[in-house]
Amino acid sequence: MKSTPLDESQSDIPPEEVFEILGNEIRMGILRALWEAYDPMSTADAVSFSELYEAVPVSDSGQFNYHLDKLRGRYVEQTDEGYTFRPVGLKLVQSVIAGAGQEGRLEPTDIAVDCERCGGDTRLTYDGGRVYHVCTDCGGHFESAEYPDGTLWGKSFSPAGVAHRSPEELFATLTFLDWPMSARLTGNVCPRCSGVLEQSLAVCYDHESWEAEPCPNCGYSEPIRAHWVCATCKHHATGSVSGVVENHPAVISFLYDHDVDFGYPYSTNDFDTVVENEEIKADIDYDQDLVSTDPLRVRVTVAYDGDELALTLDSDLDVLAVDWSNAGE
Ligand SMILES: [Zn+2]
Ligand SMILES: [Zn+2]
Ligand SMILES: [Zn+2]
Repeated sequence: MKSTPLDESQSDIPPEEVFEILGNEIRMGILRALWEAYDPMSTADAVSFSELYEAVPVSDSGQFNYHLDKLRGRYVEQTDEGYTFRPVGLKLVQSVIAGAGQEGRLEPTDIAVDCERCGGDTRLTYDGGRVYHVCTDCGGHFESAEYPDGTLWGKSFSPAGVAHRSPEELFATLTFLDWPMSARLTGNVCPRCSGVLEQSLAVCYDHESWEAEPCPNCGYSEPIRAHWVCATCKHHATGSVSGVVENHPAVISFLYDHDVDFGYPYSTNDFDTVVENEEIKADIDYDQDLVSTDPLRVRVTVAYDGDELALTLDSDLDVLAVDWSNAGE
């Protein structure tokens, strides 16, 4: 198997250069021919000059040489056996050609999972590269032109991931992936490009808490939200502050003391087990309160079976204090 040298694979590609390659038939033809020959399990997949020249529709060898030369070095490597990818060239092709070859389709499908907000019926939809878990009875957690009505969550997932899973498998897999995803967010690692995320806390001071609809002022069901924006690719993720403390050792320990021991992260993506765990999770209440605005302090109270654990967070979402006095110790 091939190993990718880390120092090389992370080197940056100037965007103008990528657009130039994408817009040029000959350069794309060369990369496509290398991609067709590429075998991750073999080291004998180099393409000879003559094979490459034949694979690309070009009448003039001077033209061909000119464009091959432009790719050589950063994207393509010439060895004794012929031409192969450099790690950056492979990464480019994987994101452009490999992703475009997949078609992920999911008609809105009812799914046997109750709405976490109102207990109503829910379904899964897929649009614009995102899977949405949507309630058919209430307004969900989000109010935005970007999200379908009743959205409980929306998660980016590649067409390839959608194409090869049933709606139940999709729901279980995305729930299963929640923990590593939230760990990446709280570790400020962009799930799209591995860039650095900027983390912030947003408070809606005019929050109108409707029974079953998101607030018309901020667009969310809860007034206090964590936001992450990637400084490199502008990927945006948002979640409740309770999601940030879900993996805190004090919370895991509090729940464990109350016999909730299914574990974070989930150790399986079996649908029935995931749904069962989600039902246990629904019995755990997370309340968020604004303690002070200057400095910004937020308290998250975790309540289960009559006992409570309270955590105080600052604007960087760091846990400053844990209050065990009502935790049933
Ligand atoms: Zn609902
Ligand atoms: Zn609001
Ligand atoms: Zn990013």
